[in-house]
Amino acid sequence: MSHPSDEDDPFEDIREKTDNPMKRLFSEYGTANARFFGLGFFGSVAARLLDLLPPLLLGLAIDAIFRNDRPFTLPLVPQGLLPTEPNGQLVFTLGVIAFAFFGGSVFHWIRNYGWNSFAQNIQHAIRTDTYDKMQRLNMDFFAEKQTGEMMSVLSNDVNRLERFLNDGMNSAFRLSVMVLGIAGIMFWLNPRLAVVSLLPVPIIAAVTWKFIDVIQPKYAEVRSTVGHLNSRLENNLGGIKVIKTFNTEGFESDRVDDVSGEYYDANWDAITTRIKFFPALRVIAGIGFVITFGVGGFWVLGVAPTWITGSESLTVGTFTTFILYTQRFIWPMAQFGSIINMYQRARASSARLFGLMDTPSRIVEDPAAEDLVVEDGEVVYDDVTFSYDDEEIIVDDISFDVDGGETLALVGPTGAGKSTVLKLLLRMYDVDEGSITIDGQDIRDVTIPSLRQSLGYVSQDTFMFYGTVRDNIAYGTFDADEDAIREAAKAAEAHEFITNLPEGYDTEIGERGVKLSGGQRQRLSIARAILKDPEVLVLDEATSDVDTETEMLIQRSIDKLTEDRTTFAIAHRLSTIKDADQIVVLEDGRIAERGSHEELLGEDGLYAHLWGVQAGEIDELPQEFIDRAAKRASRTEAEASDD
Ligand code: ADP
Repeated sequence: MSHPSDEDDPFEDIREKTDNPMKRLFSEYGTANARFFGLGFFGSVAARLLDLLPPLLLGLAIDAIFRNDRPFTLPLVPQGLLPTEPNGQLVFTLGVIAFAFFGGSVFHWIRNYGWNSFAQNIQHAIRTDTYDKMQRLNMDFFAEKQTGEMMSVLSNDVNRLERFLNDGMNSAFRLSVMVLGIAGIMFWLNPRLAVVSLLPVPIIAAVTWKFIDVIQPKYAEVRSTVGHLNSRLENNLGGIKVIKTFNTEGFESDRVDDVSGEYYDANWDAITTRIKFFPALRVIAGIGFVITFGVGGFWVLGVAPTWITGSESLTVGTFTTFILYTQRFIWPMAQFGSIINMYQRARASSARLFGLMDTPSRIVEDPAAEDLVVEDGEVVYDDVTFSYDDEEIIVDDISFDVDGGETLALVGPTGAGKSTVLKLLLRMYDVDEGSITIDGQDIRDVTIPSLRQSLGYVSQDTFMFYGTVRDNIAYGTFDADEDAIREAAKAAEAHEFITNLPEGYDTEIGERGVKLSGGQRQRLSIARAILKDPEVLVLDEATSDVDTETEMLIQRSIDKLTEDRTTFAIAHRLSTIKDADQIVVLEDGRIAERGSHEELLGEDGLYAHLWGVQAGEIDELPQEFIDRAAKRASRTEAEASDD
């Protein structure tokens, strides 16, 4: 079994096309937020430069004020502005240091404001854009991809991008300014000592590089084992009833122990590497510090070899500045690793996001499409042929004609293609050959919203959104007034149970609210369809277990819904459709029989036999019918086990 982990890429197939995703991220989303990028960048640089001032001023104070070794001068500051008295010079120095701290805080704030705004705006825009594009994709996309995979892109990947855009960019600029700024000041103060002090930089860079190389696969392993662990826990919590009734607690505890053990091992492997890295850096940094201290110390004393000093002198103040700086730049260097890591993960995440955004939709609206105009509601299927994957033909050359206001029932064994025939009308998929027209207009030539607005769909899996009963009835007809909502509920035989709910129409339903029974949900979805009042109705008949009384209520509400409306009904219980104007019997994607209930019974074919089965006359069925049913059942089971 495979588990989704960070490294798995559910959109690998479409990802290839997205080259240079980071460039695209910045050009498509960064430019709109350029001012925040500018603020973040400016704040980062200014804050760090001010951070570098105090050690420089301390060195100057030591040399110029306390020891009189060099004149009191500052780069970029005209000499006329500087005090000449030691007291005044000290006050000036203190003032600049205080300003550096105060100004630094202001710039830190600006920096955080800039980067956070940059990251938040982009994550919001990219998430809503991706969601928007995704929900317009065809149904086969949703059939192929798992919900978990899409959730992972919309939440994990977007969050990872946000982290990089905020923390990653922030750290990257801070680090660059820090290292470049310190190196610059050091070279300006004393190039020879600067070379000595900066010696550990390439070594630290190399060690960090090596560390990332070794640790990354280990982190990937940790993430993958944590994925296994979560899947196992989720599966077990879902199956807790089975675990209890089969008395398998011990067995399941062992299984959880196993996957938790895998996670433990993977984590330890990463931890042992990680806890060696920081002491190693500390040693390198320590050696660098000792060397700078040693060379500088002997230099101040005047006993360092001239091949190092080049016969120049080193003051105590400059020496102090160097020591303070040396301590400052070593540690941030260790962060380079995590920045590179963040960058790589953000890159993979944007590739996945753009991959999802770029997935083409197979259902495209003709640019010249006009709105569908329904008058009678006549629907014609003309030689319609369709297959999902070009391999097996699912709908084979089907034609029928339903007059406005009539009802056509589709019956036939499971897998015969009944749902597929109706998905074509809803334009979840396009026909391969032939055409479907409503009042003479090919459904491929009309705008998709106008088509879907004219069609109503009531299925057996009635989905309710989180919200109130009223919201759920008015879903899709958002401007409906209270009276219309109540009328629809009454017509759907739902008004009575709704008024018995704790808060009537305001009762919250869904996970956090009241749980409705299957029969109640069905009546709500019928009310939803009645309110929408579509010209053409598609009914995927309910098979859920409801008692006979509820079934009667549902049937009554459906009768009201289908009255004077072109209706397509998929029926499992033939008793519900025996009054249909036409009954089409499908078998293996073809029309096997058609006619009214009476006519079909007279033919003594598939319909008559199905009717016999439902009437309980199993003993009277011909052997040939039973053989074919068994063959079909074994095929459907094989298909089911393929999934
Ligand atoms: P019915 O509604 O009569 O039970 P369906 O229209 O659901 O039949 O299915 C007809 C055939 O099409 C079945 O063999 C089923 O496995 C196949 N099928 C249904 N949906 C898909 C899909 N999204 N992709 C591929 N094959 C599908």
